[in-house]
Amino acid sequence: KEKKKLGLTSKIFISLLLGAVAGVLMHYYLPAGTLKDTVLINGIFYVVGNGFLRLMQMLVVPLVFCSLICGSMSIGDTKKLGKVGIKTMVFYLATTAIAISVALSIGQLISPGIGLDMSAIQKADVTIGEKTSFADTLLNIIPTNPIKSLADGEMLPIILFAVLIGIILAKLGENAEIVANFFSQFNDVMMQMTMIVMKFAPYGVFCLIAKTFSTVGFDGIGPLLKYMGAVLLALVVQCAGVYMLFLYGFTRLNPFRFLKKFAPVMGFAFSTATSNATIPMSIETLATKMGVSKRISSFTIPLGATINMDGTAIMQGVAVIFAAQAYNIMLTPADYITVIATATLASVGTAGVPGVGMITLSMVFAAVGLPIEAISMIIGIDRILDMSRTAVNITGDAVCTTIVAHQDGSLNKEVFNRK
Ligand code: ASP
Repeated sequence: KEKKKLGLTSKIFISLLLGAVAGVLMHYYLPAGTLKDTVLINGIFYVVGNGFLRLMQMLVVPLVFCSLICGSMSIGDTKKLGKVGIKTMVFYLATTAIAISVALSIGQLISPGIGLDMSAIQKADVTIGEKTSFADTLLNIIPTNPIKSLADGEMLPIILFAVLIGIILAKLGENAEIVANFFSQFNDVMMQMTMIVMKFAPYGVFCLIAKTFSTVGFDGIGPLLKYMGAVLLALVVQCAGVYMLFLYGFTRLNPFRFLKKFAPVMGFAFSTATSNATIPMSIETLATKMGVSKRISSFTIPLGATINMDGTAIMQGVAVIFAAQAYNIMLTPADYITVIATATLASVGTAGVPGVGMITLSMVFAAVGLPIEAISMIIGIDRILDMSRTAVNITGDAVCTTIVAHQDGSLNKEVFNRK
């Protein structure tokens, strides 16, 4: 069985690489307007890639809902649940604040916006989303109609409603046995479905990546190469440095083993740029390969996919430095603190779907008086960064989950240490 699992990991990676190569080759060597567009890119790649993505998305709401009910039911006691919740939030916020600091430092070091030829950059139109006040953001966690929240896939209200059901089921015990059994069996059905869907991952990943690269290529990157390099470097530092130090420091678990086992999930996040869609795969991988109890992960992973976006915060930190340098605006130390605070909030407010980090970036720019038009310079090349930061976003969730599970005694080291 184990051999088969390893097979899937390598298959996902091979498809990722082959997909990228095929996409780039098509972008540069197959002329537009040929069969390439109709048959390959908008035909086969689109249907297979998005078909797979939709299958993964299909799992998210029912899986999160049922496994969260089961998770909080099995933790049962509200004090313990609260402890896990608070600890998770602290880790999520701390890693995000560190991420922005890493980004600001690397941004200063590389200076991506100095000596920029602004006329060489293609600008795109940006539309800024509507702002919701902080009070409303908090209030929106309480669903006025839970069925509507489920239908719309609104993660935070779903989490609240499911946790409440779980706590009450634990309290009622035998008196609500039928309902409890229903959710736990439905949860098994969803896990089974996740495993079946994941078998299609290599084909889905290949098509998604090939389609993306055949569309974006590397055009227009030239003048923004330094900016991209700075973001990518900061992402690597966060992932291979900060996270691994956290993991080793708090758990003494082997960080390399963690990365190796989690790599396919990162590959999937990279190919879709969607944290939300990776929730089922993350929970499954943490459970089967790292021994993290679903009691913990069913709560922390969906929460993290919704509010913990370290990769996004990194992009926003570097973007601030880039824009300030490009427009010759001096940032004061107070501005840096404002950036750390607002980018942490922006990361909480960024939904786990493609491209939203660019929208919440306007909030960070506005807080320190940077021109919003600066976003139009980087939005054109954002897709590749979006993919990369999504991989980091979900790795942050998984690392914090592993630490919290370890401290809670809900991690099976034997499973983690298995090759
Ligand atoms: N695509 C990112 C995610 O899903 C969010 C973003 O930064 O745009 O995690």
